[in-house]
Amino acid sequence: MLGNDTITSVLIVGAGPIGLSLALDLAWRGVDCTIIDQADGSIDLPRGAMVSVRTMEFCRRWGIADRVINAGFPQDYKLNMVYCTSLAGHLLERDDYPSQRDKETPPSSTEKRTWCPQLLFDPLLARVVAEYDRVTMRYLCRLESFEQSADEVVAHTVDARTGERRAIRARYMVACDGAGSFVRETAGIAQSGRVLGYSINIFFRCPDLLRAHDKGEAERYLFINTEGTWGNITVVDGRESWRLTVIGSSDKLDLAQFDAKARVRRAIGRDDLGFELIAVKPWRRSEMMADRFRVGRIFLAGDAAHTMSPTGGFGMNTGVIDAVNLGWKLQAMLDGWGGETLLASYEVEQCPVVERNARASTHNFDLWVGVKEMCAHVMDDTPEGERARRAVGTRLKESLRSEWECLGVMLGHRYEASPICVPDGTPPPPDPVSEYIPTARPGSRAPHAWLADGRSTLDLFGRGFVLLRLGKDPLDAGGLVAAAGAQRVPLAVVDIDAPATNALYARRLVLVRPDGHVAWRGDQAPQDADRLIRVVRGAAAAAGT
Ligand SMILES: Cc1cc2nc3c(=O)[nH]c(=O)nc-3n(C[C@H](O)[C@H](O)[C@H](O)COP(=O)(O)OP(=O)(O)OC[C@H]3O[C@@H](n4cnc5c(N)ncnc54)[C@H](O)[C@@H]3O)c2cc1C
Repeated sequence: MLGNDTITSVLIVGAGPIGLSLALDLAWRGVDCTIIDQADGSIDLPRGAMVSVRTMEFCRRWGIADRVINAGFPQDYKLNMVYCTSLAGHLLERDDYPSQRDKETPPSSTEKRTWCPQLLFDPLLARVVAEYDRVTMRYLCRLESFEQSADEVVAHTVDARTGERRAIRARYMVACDGAGSFVRETAGIAQSGRVLGYSINIFFRCPDLLRAHDKGEAERYLFINTEGTWGNITVVDGRESWRLTVIGSSDKLDLAQFDAKARVRRAIGRDDLGFELIAVKPWRRSEMMADRFRVGRIFLAGDAAHTMSPTGGFGMNTGVIDAVNLGWKLQAMLDGWGGETLLASYEVEQCPVVERNARASTHNFDLWVGVKEMCAHVMDDTPEGERARRAVGTRLKESLRSEWECLGVMLGHRYEASPICVPDGTPPPPDPVSEYIPTARPGSRAPHAWLADGRSTLDLFGRGFVLLRLGKDPLDAGGLVAAAGAQRVPLAVVDIDAPATNALYARRLVLVRPDGHVAWRGDQAPQDADRLIRVVRGAAAAAGT
């Protein structure tokens, strides 16, 4: 019955970090949305903690970067990597990294990668989202079924407290309902990929842990025994809570037979230290991707669309890129200037990014477990044991640098073969893991450069398209401005003349999309400005000017 139905522009199913990021991006753009979650918003077992440079750039755009940095993780906690047999046992190697406070911001960004466990990050996003009147948030509200027509999606929900059933009518629905996505399954979208193994997370409280060993503060302690790398403790709040991940095998770990306390003791390396188990949860490590990210008016984002091994911390951060890729496109459709190809471009653009980031994650995991053959003697208190420990430690330290230092993965993704970007004929630059190579080549993240007024180029992007006119005597952009106006595409023109920035962008005119990726660039105004605007708003069949 229409009278009792909720009507919203975008329904987001799932208030994990991706659903919340999308709600925030939409709300920031002025789009109304409803976000529902079957749970109550509390986090029983924190998973991610590493907020990438790119995600932090989006947080800056949304005005919350400082709130993420100050969410509660201690700024002076040292984010080292330690390789050992146990906290009280032998040290194999260590890689020392500065604390959040002492870490330098990379020159290619305004932001640093930030340690903010989901225990803090998700509730912070939820608080920020709740500050927007145009967002309706409903916890303990489960999606039970849905259908779509040419004009809308109708979602049927049930309130977990009252049992009340309610329909939500939305122009678009985005499934951010996690790895086991109900929406994906119900929509009949298959997944491809592979299972990498089964693991168990143990969340525990141990205020004395740091005082009970000599390895010092670390972001992660990796444990190696004769079976190879068997687990890791990750810092959660920087004070008293920790997560031990026990790496399983290709067989599921049987929770009934699993002695979590014994595993924690094994990791600590002594039996006399008190700790409290908070939660124990099995999970599947996988590299899976949905075969489609869209069915009609329904989209998948985050873990609902893809999973990857957490080795690298790319899972949530890739999902946030999904959300930002989708946010402006939904806005464009709702505001009436987006063409049908705009929605189709979401999947075309994001799938290769997901594949790339998942590949890097699996590669890191292979490095974690790849030392197994070298570990037969690592527990021996003999010269041979010492040699084995040194060899394994060196291998892990050198190979895993690519996991801890991954700016290239975080900033270098680009939308090749996008139907809404116009290639300029230049070859793609290399795409290394650790190093980010700034480029304004179409499809890439428009690079950061400081402006004369103290802002970053990144601060220019977000709301609509931005045409940068670079260099002295800016080129006439009247044709583009008129074309955008005629097609109701929001476009701002910004003039920049700074030698370093001119060189970085490498063209006199650069058109940047609302998500901060370059759509087109050239040294002269396009011959057919109308067609260019049609392409970038998804209303032309194929890219090309
Ligand atoms: C050990 C570990 C460490 C990790 N570390 C990192 C890291 O450092 N950095 C990183 O980027 N990623 C990391 N990840 C990955 C990251 O945790 C996930 O990618 C991220 O949480 C996915 O977010 P999401 O919002 O897509 O899904 P989820 O966080 O799973 O949220 C889905 C939400 O949907 C709700 N839901 C489900 N079904 C329904 C329904 N029918 N109706 C209503 N609501 C529903 C659920 O209640 C849930 O709240 C890690 C993962 C693990 C396992």
